[in-house]
Amino acid sequence: MILSLRFRSLSLILLVITTCAISNAQVKPGRDPNQPIDEEYTRKIREYTTAPYFNSPLTDYLPASPNVPTPKAVLGDVSGAPGKLPYAEEVYRYMRMLERATPRVKVYSIGTTEEGREMIAVAVASEKLLAKLDENRARLTKLADPRTINMDDAEADKLVAASFPIYYITGTIHSVETGAPTALMELAYRLAVDDSAYIKNIRDNVVTLITPVVEVDGRNRMVDIYNWHLAHPNENWPSLVYWGHYVAHDNNRDAIGLSLKLTRNVLNTYLTWKPQVLHDLHESVPYLYDNTIGDGPYNAWVDPILTDEWQMIGWNNVSEMTKFGMPGVFAHGNFDTWSPGYLMFIAATHNGISRLYETFGNGGADTLERTLAPSEYQRTWYRQNPPLPKAKWSQRNNNNYEETALLISLTYLGNNSKLFLKNFYLKGKRSIEKPKNEGPAAYVLPGDELRAGNQAELLRTLQAQGVEINRATAPFTVVVKAKKSEPAADRSPSPTRGSAAATASPTPSPSPSPSATPATRQFPAGSYIVRMDQPYSRIADALLDYQYWAPNDPQQAIYDDTAWTMGELANVEVVRITDPKVLGAAMERVSSEVRSPSGINSSGPVYLVNHNADNSLVTLRYRLKNVEMEAAEEPFEAAGHKFNRGSFIIRKASEGDLKSVSDELGIKVYGVADAPSVKTHPVRVARVALMHTWLSTQDEGWYRLGLDQLQVPFAYINTQDAAKDANLRSKYDVILLAPVGRGSAAIINGQPMYGNPIPWKTTSLTPNIGKIDATDDMRPGLGWSGLENLQKFVREGGVFITVDDTTDLAVNYGFTPGVSVTPSTRLRAVGDILRMRTVDSTSPIAYGYGDSLAMYCSNGPIFNISNIVGGRGGRGQRDGRGTGRGTPDDPDVPQGRPPAEIPEPPPKTEVWEAAPIPEEQRRNAVGIIPPAQRPRVIVRYADNRDLFVSGLLDGGDEIAQHAAVIDVPSGNGHVILFSTNPFWRGQTKGSYFLLFNAILNFDNLNAGRKLDVK
Ligand SMILES: [Zn+2]
Repeated sequence: MILSLRFRSLSLILLVITTCAISNAQVKPGRDPNQPIDEEYTRKIREYTTAPYFNSPLTDYLPASPNVPTPKAVLGDVSGAPGKLPYAEEVYRYMRMLERATPRVKVYSIGTTEEGREMIAVAVASEKLLAKLDENRARLTKLADPRTINMDDAEADKLVAASFPIYYITGTIHSVETGAPTALMELAYRLAVDDSAYIKNIRDNVVTLITPVVEVDGRNRMVDIYNWHLAHPNENWPSLVYWGHYVAHDNNRDAIGLSLKLTRNVLNTYLTWKPQVLHDLHESVPYLYDNTIGDGPYNAWVDPILTDEWQMIGWNNVSEMTKFGMPGVFAHGNFDTWSPGYLMFIAATHNGISRLYETFGNGGADTLERTLAPSEYQRTWYRQNPPLPKAKWSQRNNNNYEETALLISLTYLGNNSKLFLKNFYLKGKRSIEKPKNEGPAAYVLPGDELRAGNQAELLRTLQAQGVEINRATAPFTVVVKAKKSEPAADRSPSPTRGSAAATASPTPSPSPSPSATPATRQFPAGSYIVRMDQPYSRIADALLDYQYWAPNDPQQAIYDDTAWTMGELANVEVVRITDPKVLGAAMERVSSEVRSPSGINSSGPVYLVNHNADNSLVTLRYRLKNVEMEAAEEPFEAAGHKFNRGSFIIRKASEGDLKSVSDELGIKVYGVADAPSVKTHPVRVARVALMHTWLSTQDEGWYRLGLDQLQVPFAYINTQDAAKDANLRSKYDVILLAPVGRGSAAIINGQPMYGNPIPWKTTSLTPNIGKIDATDDMRPGLGWSGLENLQKFVREGGVFITVDDTTDLAVNYGFTPGVSVTPSTRLRAVGDILRMRTVDSTSPIAYGYGDSLAMYCSNGPIFNISNIVGGRGGRGQRDGRGTGRGTPDDPDVPQGRPPAEIPEPPPKTEVWEAAPIPEEQRRNAVGIIPPAQRPRVIVRYADNRDLFVSGLLDGGDEIAQHAAVIDVPSGNGHVILFSTNPFWRGQTKGSYFLLFNAILNFDNLNAGRKLDVK
């Protein structure tokens, strides 16, 4: 009896387990007939869905709850209803109503935005799972760092068996993509309330973590615009010219530079919660593009286990929705998964799974008839059930697709949770095993780096990524790859360079290699070591390594930048070490934020600060704005140290102030008894204006961000201000026009003046816009008066700085005689990094730089220089000899007369130089630019063989050797042209100082200049 009972209970348990396993895999999507539905809500869902096939059995009803409010409690209608776009605060209010009404929802504050708005994460799961969040987190933390369990697979299996996974969803990072917040409100409700087997299975097995609004500042502005549109139904509405405080669409390119608060907040949430998936929601493609599988080339640093996971989850998603009969769901497409800059890539580079949906939206909550382009509706191999050529589309449709797809993915994660948790562990373990598998062993940032401030800044960014940094406590010697053509010393300002190159001594190569012979190198104590035997080695490897995108890669629709090599862009040395000996070097873990050395060696009365192009120097200048500073026009030695051209000499300052600011900024100050006897000029606190257009503010947003981060004050003006102000010089010393991307005609003309005025200003209807800048009508541009005012500004001594496409305005509208642009025909420099050479190191713009610098380039303009107005410049080639007698080196000889004397050919000029003016042209000097007004080339593109640094470069010979940074004197002022972009996505910190130098030396840019004799 007892026996049989025991057997019976055992078999009962077995039966239960089997049923469970089967039911998990086989639960049918659809409502629980025993749970009542919210009749009215369900009716509205059906009413707002424009065709039955735009819905699924998962979302075509809403279960009723006696005590949990539906989204209607906040929206006044159902999620996805026409005309309803909630502000972030309304979304949060609803999530907190859920938290109060059910133990299955918890809301966490995860930080604030640039404008002080809150960001949240909402956890939804069964009460049982939520009660165990902390103990589960302890297990996930161990799985995330397998060193904590001695890489013991059996122990990992036990942890996996006991753990449940976390799926992190982020909504509306792109403010014009509006559907996610209401979809996520309703998703949270469904996950908390629905008793159907399908939803219960998710709730019992997965914690769903939701950040319903990622770009909170931009969301609220978008809702303002939409409400304005509703209030003015027959008028044109403003485009969303500002999304976030600084940037628009590029907020999804910040996972490299980590400049934006939204990136930091999501990253910190990711690092704290250790989710297995980070899924970012977008809407720009009909109807649902599960784009993570994407297309090649894949990012070369992620674990292949991850790319398999992309395929598994993505295809399951497509397959299940296809079975629901929902058209237009597909994967692959042409999104390449190369760049690690996307928000979702926080997971990909930290051993999680990155996911992204592009769904379809109308840029608001209007229901619209949408007509697609053939490329969107045609069937292709990866899109067997394409979207309809024409369909009425609603925000409700969008919400149906988004929720259905997410529920399918959550189910897949829940049903395969042990597999994905084990993979999570394995990816961490394989990251730690990197040195003994694919390598490298470590990256080293030498302790004698010339730009210690920029080095510290780079290391702090890695620390924010969760990367452990170590510091050598004694010198160590390891095998390094000898560089082919670029000795390390090349980056240094000519007079000084540390021991970097000097200590490299070649050793015999173990196997003959045509490219590089290994050498050994000794690194000093204090060198930073980024070990690759740590769980987050992949992000460090991906960011510090070089990229190579083959010009013949089959991927021709390149999605984004092809390079991001952080050391090069920061202008600091980073050495990739494969020699495992590096891991045995004496070192200690850096426990706090990396700081560069600071301090004052002795009391003045004169203080010296070496100019090494560390960005903190500009902060020092502006923080001590009442202290007089001078720049040395030549290098000098003092206090036993070498000082570069441009170094600050401070003759009178409070030592206390100097010490506290330089300590805070990580700057070394040298006190000396006497000022060095070297020519100097004042470094004044320039009054800077950043001028934007009403067409696009994103690229200038990265400039604003850089200036704000470094505490450089500036006036924020727009082209309409410049059009009205004939006296710009009285207010500003420097006006900066960052890239706009629309061409100079658009900058001048603005938007077409048809139809109604388009305001961008704060009103009770639009409380969130008009704060950064405002106008009654966004349409007018710079106009001819603006151009004239800018030219007057320059004539009167102002400095006008243009970059990339805005150089066109300067070059083609008469600001820069002697500079022309050659249209490119073959060049493909697609968001890559190219080598520059300093041409004139005496120019203040080059202060602190060496004779070489890597810069970000995106098919920048190809400049030519001439000494004649309207001259085209170009390669000053000598003509070859003509047809005639003799060998190629012989002169021809006309017959029947004595040979004539051939005049000396003009001297050869380089590509970045202006050709000398032939005597023939000097007779009537109209158009010959006086020597003091001629363009001065400061930096040029390197020779073709040295030009490529990282990314994709094809046809580089078209731009090789051409001028890249030009200072054109004009009247009493200057116009500065950048072909490369010194301020890009918070990544190019090594080139910031070219701009800062122009600002700080605005009234002495001619320093060091040698004029042509004639
Ligand atoms: Zn998007």
